[in-house]
Amino acid sequence: MKNNNDPARTKISDYSPQISRDTHVQYVKGVGPARANLLNRMGIETIEDILYYFPWRYEDRKDLNKISSMKPGNHETVLGQVVSADIITTPRKRMKIFELTVSDETGFLKSRWFNQPYLKKYFQKGQKVILRGTVKGNPYTGSGLEMENPDFELFGSEDTLIHTSRIVPVYKATEGLSPKQIRTLMFNTIKAYSFIVEDYLPEEVLKRNNLKPLGWAVKEAHFPEEFIDVSALNRGADPAHRRLVFDEFFLLELGLAVLKKRENAEKGISFSAKDGLVNKFLNSLPFKLTNAQKRVLDEIKADMQRPFQMNRLVHGDVGCGKTVVALVSMLIAVENGYQACLMAPTELLAEQHFINIHRMVEDLGLKVVLLTSGRKDKPVDDISGGGAQIVIGTHALIQETVQFKKLGLAIIDEQHRFGVVQRAALRRKGFNPDILIMTATPIPRTLAMTLYGDLDIAVIDELPAGRKPIITKIFFPSQKDRVYSLIRRELSLGRQVYIVYPLIEESEKLDLKSAIEGAEALRKIFPDMKIGLVHGKMHHDDRESVMAMFKSGDIAMLVATTVIEVGIDVPNASLMLVVHSERFGLAQLHQLRGRIGRGGYDSHCLLLAYPPFSEDAGRRLKAMETTGDGFRIAEEDLAIRGPGDFFGTRQSGLPDLKIANIVRDIGALERARKEAFDLIETNPELDRYPLLKEMLQRKWMGRLELIKS
Ligand code: ADP
Ligand code: MG
Repeated sequence: MKNNNDPARTKISDYSPQISRDTHVQYVKGVGPARANLLNRMGIETIEDILYYFPWRYEDRKDLNKISSMKPGNHETVLGQVVSADIITTPRKRMKIFELTVSDETGFLKSRWFNQPYLKKYFQKGQKVILRGTVKGNPYTGSGLEMENPDFELFGSEDTLIHTSRIVPVYKATEGLSPKQIRTLMFNTIKAYSFIVEDYLPEEVLKRNNLKPLGWAVKEAHFPEEFIDVSALNRGADPAHRRLVFDEFFLLELGLAVLKKRENAEKGISFSAKDGLVNKFLNSLPFKLTNAQKRVLDEIKADMQRPFQMNRLVHGDVGCGKTVVALVSMLIAVENGYQACLMAPTELLAEQHFINIHRMVEDLGLKVVLLTSGRKDKPVDDISGGGAQIVIGTHALIQETVQFKKLGLAIIDEQHRFGVVQRAALRRKGFNPDILIMTATPIPRTLAMTLYGDLDIAVIDELPAGRKPIITKIFFPSQKDRVYSLIRRELSLGRQVYIVYPLIEESEKLDLKSAIEGAEALRKIFPDMKIGLVHGKMHHDDRESVMAMFKSGDIAMLVATTVIEVGIDVPNASLMLVVHSERFGLAQLHQLRGRIGRGGYDSHCLLLAYPPFSEDAGRRLKAMETTGDGFRIAEEDLAIRGPGDFFGTRQSGLPDLKIANIVRDIGALERARKEAFDLIETNPELDRYPLLKEMLQRKWMGRLELIKS
């Protein structure tokens, strides 16, 4: 692994040709200690890092426009010479405007920047400057062209090669280092050092996927010479980007393939197929399993019977019945004399699971305990002594202090929070239990291939019969009366209603209605109705008693924060009002909505939204209105949030995707995954490809090693 804190390792004299990809940027020509610092802050430490710091967009400066040929309304780039640069103060508002006039041989162009008087110091008369912005006609004179707040770049006579007459790359700048300075630095770095880029992909992979050489791709992605369609470059659809994107996916998937191969070979418990407890439990249920539940359970059973460790992900839409599947899996472990645990991401969710599961297995004579860090009475003795067969808890379960007598199965109920590294930690605890991961809502296929690419995946793609589609509609505050009358109608039919609020207490900053205040207001609007309130800050017992009253029908209306997201199951509830729905995430809204529509009644989800809200919020609400299908919602959620947000790679333990985008580049992802998994199948140790193997280790920063132990 590289060690950038050790200058001795990378120090080279000015005369030494001993440059490698690990050489610290400070030794790059044109980078002194000060610049090196700035670059470090941008995450650039080595020559390799700098070569892989790609532009975020490209600008076509092949033939810069002449001023006279610019058209109002167009986005244009021009090169002009400074005629005047003045600060003007508006008489009334006393706003400072910096006004710049430039000319070329065809005319004049005026530009304005508001409240940035400091800009004046950059512009001397006669200085050449490139301006990029939207062109306006002057509204007062009707003649003359103007730009407001254009991007600008000062232009020196020696700059022709790098900054104009070509497609130029535009880099994310940082304070103290302008896009132009970075461009110059890049130009020189590429010229001097791009030779260090080695192609590590197997020939056949390159051929099959029609990929260009890596060194070429790196150079072209910075300073396109051969491929000059600027819009394709900006879409990442050119040959250089195709190569770089493929490589990122390939190295990611190759690591996942290594992990998967290794995990599947990990010695594990071979449970035997005793069905006594399981059948007793299934017979006690008031329903039959769906075909999808049966199929997934068969897959899990087969995994558990193999003498290897199970590493499986189960996902499916809200209400598809994941809890039952989890429980049956636990019962298999218990029947074989092992303990099983279920780990939830929050204390509240752990409590909900505990209550549900406790109720479901009560008659089987099993001991179920709850362990969270917040609870005083921790059942550690029951766990270490083996008295508790089923343990529900939070991450506290994998802490040092908790010792299981004989853990056979760990179920992780998560929302993209339990990454590769944490899973390895669970194993390093000394247990080697079978592992089953469950997500609350479906995950898009692309995410499954990346975040969970090392797991076996099972999908419950069927809802129990009798679920009616939920009618979802957006309402604005001006339509509150309509909302109340819909609620009243539902109540008069004997149904029950959820009112969901985003926060517990009023936040002054966001001015959100709190659940507490909301309950007060609703009691005035519906004086004859029993209204209950639950939120996260309530004592656990109080919360439970309110929930129980709602379940039994003593309470007609339950006002709640998102604590009801998971676990609560009241078939008679047929309407949900989500207040400030614009504040909720899409997956969360869908998960909430899954609380209704369980009783065979027509159900309604009312999304009360307070404008103004962002475009993304609008898209989320629209998606809720348009579809009830959790799989489609999941795809839309990914499209809105963008892959970066989902990834949280630091936490997931996966290498960064800098240039590839799992939404945009899905085709490349699929091809790269196939190639990577095929390669590991035929050459698991990668000993035929030493360069590739080394690159893989670098990309995963030793994590593949770490996980081996
Ligand atoms: P989720 O997958 O969202 O966790 P749950 O496990 O909470 O779903 O199940 C939702 C509801 O459906 C529960 O009331 C559960 O008892 C019920 N359920 C589960 N499986 C079936 C089935 N096969 N037929 C009918 N109802 C079922
Ligand atoms: Mg097994």
